[in-house]
Amino acid sequence: MALTSDPLPALKKFFGFDGFLDAQEGVVDQILSGQDGLVVMPTGGGKSLCYQLPAMCMEGVTLVISPLIALMKDQVDGLLGKGIPATMINSTLDSNEQWQRIAAMKNGEYKLVYIAPERFRSSSFMEAMKDVNVSLFAVDEAHCLSQWGHDFRPEYMRLGKALEKLGMPQAIALTATATPVVRNDILKVLALREPFETVSGFSRPNLSLSIVEVDKHKVKHARLREVVEKWKTGIVYCSTRKRVEEVGELLHSWGIKSIAYHGGMSPDERERTQNTFITKKADVAVATNAFGMGIDRSDVRFVLHYEIPGSIEAYYQEAGRAGRDGEAAYCELLFNYADTRTQEFFIDGANPNFKTISDIYRFLQNDADANFEIQRTIDEIKEGADVKNGMAVGSALAILMRNGYVERFDIAGKRMKGTRLLKPNSELNINQQALEEKEKRDREKLDTMVQLCYSRQCRQQSILEYFGEQDAQTCGTCDICINAFGGESREPADEEETLIVRKALSGVARMSRKVGGKWEGVFGRGRIVQMLMGSRSQEIKRVRLDELTTHGILKSCGTAYLNELFRSMHDAGLIFTQRGEFPLLTLTPRGERVMLGKSSFRLVWPETQSVSAVKHSDMVIEEFGFDGRLYDRLKDLRQKLAQAEGVPAYQIFPNKTLEYFTRLRPKTVNNGLRIKGVGEVKAEKYLQAFIDEIIAFD
Ligand code: ADP
Ligand code: ZN
Repeated sequence: MALTSDPLPALKKFFGFDGFLDAQEGVVDQILSGQDGLVVMPTGGGKSLCYQLPAMCMEGVTLVISPLIALMKDQVDGLLGKGIPATMINSTLDSNEQWQRIAAMKNGEYKLVYIAPERFRSSSFMEAMKDVNVSLFAVDEAHCLSQWGHDFRPEYMRLGKALEKLGMPQAIALTATATPVVRNDILKVLALREPFETVSGFSRPNLSLSIVEVDKHKVKHARLREVVEKWKTGIVYCSTRKRVEEVGELLHSWGIKSIAYHGGMSPDERERTQNTFITKKADVAVATNAFGMGIDRSDVRFVLHYEIPGSIEAYYQEAGRAGRDGEAAYCELLFNYADTRTQEFFIDGANPNFKTISDIYRFLQNDADANFEIQRTIDEIKEGADVKNGMAVGSALAILMRNGYVERFDIAGKRMKGTRLLKPNSELNINQQALEEKEKRDREKLDTMVQLCYSRQCRQQSILEYFGEQDAQTCGTCDICINAFGGESREPADEEETLIVRKALSGVARMSRKVGGKWEGVFGRGRIVQMLMGSRSQEIKRVRLDELTTHGILKSCGTAYLNELFRSMHDAGLIFTQRGEFPLLTLTPRGERVMLGKSSFRLVWPETQSVSAVKHSDMVIEEFGFDGRLYDRLKDLRQKLAQAEGVPAYQIFPNKTLEYFTRLRPKTVNNGLRIKGVGEVKAEKYLQAFIDEIIAFD
């Protein structure tokens, strides 16, 4: 790849911007350094520039794969307006026009060409593309290639092959929504090579998130009333139509003007109620998740989740409808574990098993007319195929559509849709494993949402980490941040505290398994603490935990301290408990980074005093940074003391001890006492002087 110009001047020249937004600069730099990458930014975060600007700085043409033909035209027009040679190739053009554009592309007449993904199906198109000098292959809306995303498009699956045929040009993928699974799919399908991954822009500092555990309806009512009265304008999300109606009535009885909105209403009704809210004729909307796509009211001050939603994505998207104007807004989720049953029911409905799909398919085959058409409502199909969960019928039809067995069509003069068999006589052959896999994912998403409710880690930070932001900060405004849960959290006061946590985490790591890059728990907290305490009990010896290098490394802390510490590390999101027959403990990705010293952290530190006694082991001390300048200063100090006392320098403290001072930087006498070579007597005489020197140096 050859660079033809610098990004910053090009930014000004072509786009008229004086600087980059947030993460754009890093992304552009990495692209220009030739790396593949994945960029996740929310809508409006400025993703387009991430490939448009590099396109202008590199030789050759940047291909942009984009699924929406309508948006493509806007983008191209926008670029042409800036004097950037750009065009698009999609099915709205006749083939003559397409060939002309391909020829012009080969001639190097364009910097950016937008291409619809289905173009890559055509072998003649692929053939023609061979001589094009592609500098960058940018896949926009990349989540479309994942079956676990919300907008799967089968043509996107081909892009991996397309890249291969093009000779693997540099590639980047961009999307606004990518959960860990979807991110993984993107990396895999496109076979990105050692890609950088940038996730940014998801934090919403003006939102204060809160999750309240409630177990009685009365309490929910009271919370609802308080929130509505305090914040006035907002949305109450409920899981079911029935609950929407119930809550609507409740508000009504309190004299609060609200609208109710759910999927069971006719389009007209929906439109009308939605408008009542948007035009501010009502201040509160009570709705199922069907509501929200089209609403644009920026002064929403609160979002109250009356029940737990099915995933963190859904939760954050809905909560995110608050405070669009940038002013402070409040989001509260009323969490009752029993409500997860409703979500389980939805998961069942969204994931019909193979038998249900076959039953429905057989019913359609038997019911079809001579044109292979079926004019039945969902309810009729449900009855006819003897399916219990009505939702499953819709889901099964969607699966049959995706797999090319049926299509749906409008019936003139009727509100319902008809179904047409596309392969009327063929047996059903669909990937059952994929179906099972999807159901498993859906359940995992719900599990993660439940974990968020129970977690004591900053809400905003947990969510951003879930979306893949690496160094998300604590927000300071969520219930966890504000509400000191039994004490205030703070950063470690000194290296000593950092070290205790890092040692504890490595103990957890030694007693976990890493499978496919993910940590899995093997032992519970009790056993891990025993190991760290150096227990030689039967259970410990039987599984040879006494042979681990971490065996006994935190003996000096005492069991009570460690138990408290583990609870705090749990609350801080450094370790987590896997649900199962027994609660098994393992590291979170954040915990792993802290263990490796790559990330800072805050904890509510145990109140129990750590039993200080045992000295640090050499092995661990070596991991801490050594600063030669501090070491020299400590040596000078030792020299002065030695002269004053008339003793040889090594009698004050040996070199090794000075080295440990340098590495561990004790700032209290207590911590200094833990260092090898510091006895009570010498400590009394000299330690304070060294500590003063260290403090002065820092
Ligand atoms: P996305 O594709 O992520 O939804 P866009 O690329 O459409 O976002 O950008 C959103 C808006 O931000 C656009 O109006 C764009 O002009 C503007 N924008 C992008 N980059 C910059 C920048 N560096 N400085 C100022 N405005 C920018
Ligand atoms: Zn917080």
